[in-house]
Amino acid sequence: MPTSSFTSASSAVPCPVVESLDAILPEEPLLMMGAGPVPIPAAVAKANAIVINHLGGTMVKVIGQVKSMARYVFQTNSKWVLGVAGPGSAAMEMAISNLAWEGTRVLSIKNGFFSERMAEMGRRVGARVSTLDVADRSVASLEEVAEAIRRERPEIVTVVQGETSNTVWNYHLKEIAALAKAAGALVIVDAVCTLSTMPLEMDAWGIDAVITGGQKGLSSIPGVSLIAFSDAAWERVKGRTAPNAHWCLDASLAENFWHNAGYHYTAPVSGVLALHEALRLVCAETLEKRFARHLKCSLALQDGVAAMGLRLYTPEACRLNSVVGIEVPEGFSPADVCSHISRMHQVEISGSFGLPIVRVGQMGEQCREHNLFRTVHALGRTMVDLGVKVDLPAGVAALERGLSGGR
Ligand SMILES: *Cc1c(COP(=O)(O)O)cnc(C)c1O
Repeated sequence: MPTSSFTSASSAVPCPVVESLDAILPEEPLLMMGAGPVPIPAAVAKANAIVINHLGGTMVKVIGQVKSMARYVFQTNSKWVLGVAGPGSAAMEMAISNLAWEGTRVLSIKNGFFSERMAEMGRRVGARVSTLDVADRSVASLEEVAEAIRRERPEIVTVVQGETSNTVWNYHLKEIAALAKAAGALVIVDAVCTLSTMPLEMDAWGIDAVITGGQKGLSSIPGVSLIAFSDAAWERVKGRTAPNAHWCLDASLAENFWHNAGYHYTAPVSGVLALHEALRLVCAETLEKRFARHLKCSLALQDGVAAMGLRLYTPEACRLNSVVGIEVPEGFSPADVCSHISRMHQVEISGSFGLPIVRVGQMGEQCREHNLFRTVHALGRTMVDLGVKVDLPAGVAALERGLSGGR
């Protein structure tokens, strides 16, 4: 007797019993004060709940506005702004895999975990990658960069603006780009954590590709990223004869969607709408005011942490403001601190890939006074709970002084 193909009893993989999200998620969302993702504004969350036709007229208009707002945030007049379905690392891979291939000479200025990722992506496309290895908690001197460029004669130089892993700020970015340009190399900058938190002027500094993610400075959702190519970089993309092994990340194919209202793959429409709102809020605030807010909040946070008696990881000269690294007191691990502050105070902060630090982000919505007070208080209470001697009131007072301009 024939049996129906729909008899569930015959199914070899049984239907699992799972909990609902309501049962899994905390009743009150945790305050996301780590190295990303960061809290998103209500307008971003609302946009992220909408699905529209990815090829319709509304989408074309949204894409046009996303590109023009992104040009402002990147400070570029280049036409070649594109969105990427994927994390910041996908935008990074788009930059590397379109500009470098078998035999391309790439010089990677390696400050830590994320700048090494760009070098690794270069190796994977067959490029001849050399690295300028920079000691932890410092930046390369311009002499060292110039010497490495003379020695390696790179066609591409990669550099990170803010090395989120060890909280180092590459403050020589503009000068490094000038050195590379003078030697005829294209410059790729990772601005995933820094974009819209501190100045970056793509055109004025002569940068050829800038990448960013959604979930950090821009305060959008993770998973939709942005990239901008200069005209010179785009010429190299278009002039390559070696086929790109990546299909989704092929910039020439992505041009169909981002510039010609055509189909490449189904864009993450909700995420693009969310990014639109995040960028619109940056434009409404203006970059100048946004940079000032980030600077004030981050310095006040650093004052608060130091006044409490904890030590900042990176020396002031090259300290990243977008993500602040804090040394974990002897006898404790970063995981001890992160799990305690999350469990007892509903504040999420980050460890860092084996370094003896915890990291507190100052990106986008993290730079709000009420979030800072809650975070500094929670960090101080965590130390007290763990038996570390800190002066919490002094920390909160220093935070208040910093925020009210009395630094
Ligand atoms: C977070 C980060 C990345 C990686 O971004 P993902 O979205 O996790 O892929 C790359 N570079 C820097 C500097 C970052 O801070």
